[in-house]
Amino acid sequence: MAKLTLDDVENLGFDNSRLMPFKGVTVGCSQCQAVCVNGTPCHETGCPNERHECFECDTLVPKGVRLCDDCFDELQRDYDAGFLPDDEDDF
Ligand SMILES: [Zn+2]
Ligand SMILES: [Zn+2]
Repeated sequence: MAKLTLDDVENLGFDNSRLMPFKGVTVGCSQCQAVCVNGTPCHETGCPNERHECFECDTLVPKGVRLCDDCFDELQRDYDAGFLPDDEDDF
């Protein structure tokens, strides 16, 4: 597994992470007691900084958000194009 960079962990919501000399990145979260399990940084359950992958692609989005901005825009375009049923009431 590739070594995590500070950017990686910050993208995962670990906003208190630091790059330590010789030790590499240590993960830290302002909202929970983040820990590293087998090299994978983890938030505590229910942490508001928790991230997960978008339902349509592998972009990381905050917990409680289903889609990244790109996918959301795409869905919105489909919707505008009449992709979804029951959109129009007139005949
Ligand atoms: Zn956290
Ligand atoms: Zn997406």
